[in-house]
Amino acid sequence: MYIVLTHDVDSVKRPLRHVLARWRRFTIGDLIRHVLHIDNLYNNFEQLIAIEDSVGSRSTIFVPVQLFPIDEIKDKLKRMIKEGWEVQLHYVYEPVQPESLFKIQKRYLEEELDIKVQGVRVHNLIINENILKMFEKEGIIYDSTYRAETLGTFSPRYIKKIIELPVGVMDADLFGRLHMSEEKALRYIFRKIEEAKKNDEKTFVILFHQEALRMRGGRIYSILVKELYERGYELVRCIDIVNRVLKGEIEA
Ligand SMILES: [Zn+2]
Repeated sequence: MYIVLTHDVDSVKRPLRHVLARWRRFTIGDLIRHVLHIDNLYNNFEQLIAIEDSVGSRSTIFVPVQLFPIDEIKDKLKRMIKEGWEVQLHYVYEPVQPESLFKIQKRYLEEELDIKVQGVRVHNLIINENILKMFEKEGIIYDSTYRAETLGTFSPRYIKKIIELPVGVMDADLFGRLHMSEEKALRYIFRKIEEAKKNDEKTFVILFHQEALRMRGGRIYSILVKELYERGYELVRCIDIVNRVLKGEIEA
């Protein structure tokens, strides 16, 4: 069973008052560096690179163009793409004229990063058949927005012509919704992964938000990746799975 590492980039900075109102989420050392403008606790690309580099793996990063100016991370992303990370669209859905906004977002990301958008994850995991139909019409190959629980599988599955890579676990569900401690979350994730493996699932998609990698909760990502690597799992990007599905190596 492959472990697919993914990140959504919902923000890359926050006003100081926002950070201070949430001071309990951070370590004191990190907070001081943030307040002194030596560091920005919501920009964790260097941490992400170091964590994944340490086990020789790469991930898929879903980047929005509507939530903050792409210029703030454009150079960093281009360098990461060169070094093997996959960057795709974090589509922000709006119910009014969704098709045109999808086209606009897709094209803008493609032009800014000089990439072809073939994969999507929708912000806030908003998804339905109509949205998928729109992706299909715009030439999208894969989506990773449905939770595994919604589809009843952790493995890739064709929904019409779109390859769906269900989300196995998301940090925001564990810490935001279920209020788990870090220890509990780690146990929960490993139990879920081992269960999926026992059930012969082909993949397990992990979603941790970029901006949370130094927050209480999100910071277990480094432990998680190291432990998965030590347990012998192959850690891959969405596109690695999609290519195997297209070649018929993984059934979907
Ligand atoms: Zn998002």
